[in-house]
Amino acid sequence: MGLVTLTGIVLSVSDVGEFDRRLVILTKESGRITAFAKGARRPNNPLVAACSPFCFGTFEAFEGRSSYHISKANISNYFRDLVMDYDRVCLGSYFLEVADFLSVEGVDERNRLALLYQSLKAVESGKFSHRLLKDIYDLKTWVIDGEYPNVFTCTCCGKKENLEAFSIKRHGMLCKSCASKELGTTISSSTLYAMQFIVSSNIEKLYTFVLNSETEEELTRILDSYRLNYRSHKYKSEDFL
Ligand SMILES: [Zn+2]
Repeated sequence: MGLVTLTGIVLSVSDVGEFDRRLVILTKESGRITAFAKGARRPNNPLVAACSPFCFGTFEAFEGRSSYHISKANISNYFRDLVMDYDRVCLGSYFLEVADFLSVEGVDERNRLALLYQSLKAVESGKFSHRLLKDIYDLKTWVIDGEYPNVFTCTCCGKKENLEAFSIKRHGMLCKSCASKELGTTISSSTLYAMQFIVSSNIEKLYTFVLNSETEEELTRILDSYRLNYRSHKYKSEDFL
């Protein structure tokens, strides 16, 4: 057993035995890990505050064969303005659940962690509609996992110009001439631009735009139909959104 320092966000917490807690943490160094915090349910235990979902910081832990044992935690962000607000907690919990479901232990999950962190900060800021936040988070998550709609070229002929319809069947855009032959939904250039930005932007710059309600509705409509056709997993936290 070696002592390691891990940086990450607590995704979920559950009780174990009489006084302990079990944490799932998305870490920069080791992907998603399971860690035990011994005695963390005793009132004066120093690990009490760190054992909550959304806590971001560094964790000193002993690495065992299949799990970690936390000895010390240094939380730098509790996302307090998020956890005090019911609607924000609902959306934030959805983000945590998605990250938990899709991340893997021992794999490089730095992008997913960065996306989760920036997304929680964006929720906390109160500057964005929750519908837009969910759209951005979901689409960028699909990009991280390498399975997302092609929004830069016509999925039929490969042309880059006059992209004007979205085809669910073809996982992406159709140009003007192909759209007259294939089934697609015509979308505005601002919705297309928003999708292109989300797909190509680096994660730190992701939450730097808002959309008018018409564009936002169209973006959600397109992504909803994509979710319906290609994302079969049902998240528990989605019921609260
Ligand atoms: Zn085409």
